[in-house]
Amino acid sequence: MSVDLPIRKIIHIDMDAFYASVEQMDNPYLKGKPLAVGGGGKRGVISAASYEARKFGVKSAMAGNLAVKLCPDLIFVRPNFERYSEISKKVKAIFYDYTDLVEPLSLDEAYLDVTENKKGNPSASLIAKEIRERIFKEVGLTASAGISINKFIAKVASDYNKPNGQKTVNPEEVISFLEQLDIRKFYGVGKVTAEKMYQKGIFTGLDLKQKTLEYLDANFGKSGRYYYYIVRGIQNSEVKPNRIRKSLAAERTFSENLSSEIFMLEKLKHIADEVSRRLKKSSVAGKTVTLKIKYSDFTLQTRSKTLPYFVSDTSIILETAKDLLYQEKMSNSVRLLGISLSNLNTETKKKPEQKSVSVQLKFEF
Ligand SMILES: [Mg+2]
Repeated sequence: MSVDLPIRKIIHIDMDAFYASVEQMDNPYLKGKPLAVGGGGKRGVISAASYEARKFGVKSAMAGNLAVKLCPDLIFVRPNFERYSEISKKVKAIFYDYTDLVEPLSLDEAYLDVTENKKGNPSASLIAKEIRERIFKEVGLTASAGISINKFIAKVASDYNKPNGQKTVNPEEVISFLEQLDIRKFYGVGKVTAEKMYQKGIFTGLDLKQKTLEYLDANFGKSGRYYYYIVRGIQNSEVKPNRIRKSLAAERTFSENLSSEIFMLEKLKHIADEVSRRLKKSSVAGKTVTLKIKYSDFTLQTRSKTLPYFVSDTSIILETAKDLLYQEKMSNSVRLLGISLSNLNTETKKKPEQKSVSVQLKFEF
């Protein structure tokens, strides 16, 4: 067999029972208990259920009053999305230590493309393991991971050894993995479609593969084409980082308005230091330095200069900001100064090249 598949190293990370686990971590009384986040009140719907509750059949999207019938001891807690989002940010920060190609699907799930990664680690499986260990150490929660050549397979795989586990589908296993896969486990095949497929005798990936593109087109509309390719291990959808930073800034508001440029320079040094530190932390550099000046009467002025090269060092940022400061006389005393760097090199970073490799090739995963 020599099927050419686009080879990328994709990790899908999925936090285990995220909202419920956060509540259990924050409130030890809830540990080990059947717990539903949301779903209180007469018509409430559950957002997340702890594993203890799931044993009783309680699931997310289930009506609270039905859930109580299944699990009479079920404890309901109100969701605290601020807290979930705070933790989600911490988890994401870990991802960015490995790659900038991070595509969050929700607060508790993301795709990572680690084909090329900041650690120079060729093994996506080991990266996933390391990330899960770090999430546990640094955040206190468990996560599961799926690792494979595209987003679809990674997503399906992350469910296999859940909770607190991971599964790698190596390039040479992709075809058989998809063939034996229950059609109900196909990501993108909803309940209704799965039923329709069952009626047509399509129970597994292999059954799906027997159908022609024309047949799938005719029976499943636009999705037919998606099913046709996905079951052959072909998915060209890239990991799309939806939060590419456009600029990085730091600023200071002063307790007393400044009118002396000497004092302003001193403040600028600290601000430039902070911008530089942030740039380096994110491994980016920028070409355009912008000085922001807010006067005591609250009018705002910005002055920019674009350099012919990318900078991240304090000294050059500070020199450029100084130039901008002296460029024009201040019209009033100053209450805030800020420096931002834009035109960042992340905007021009090339997308990873798509490689086509025969599945029979030995490939470190
Ligand atoms: Mg989850």
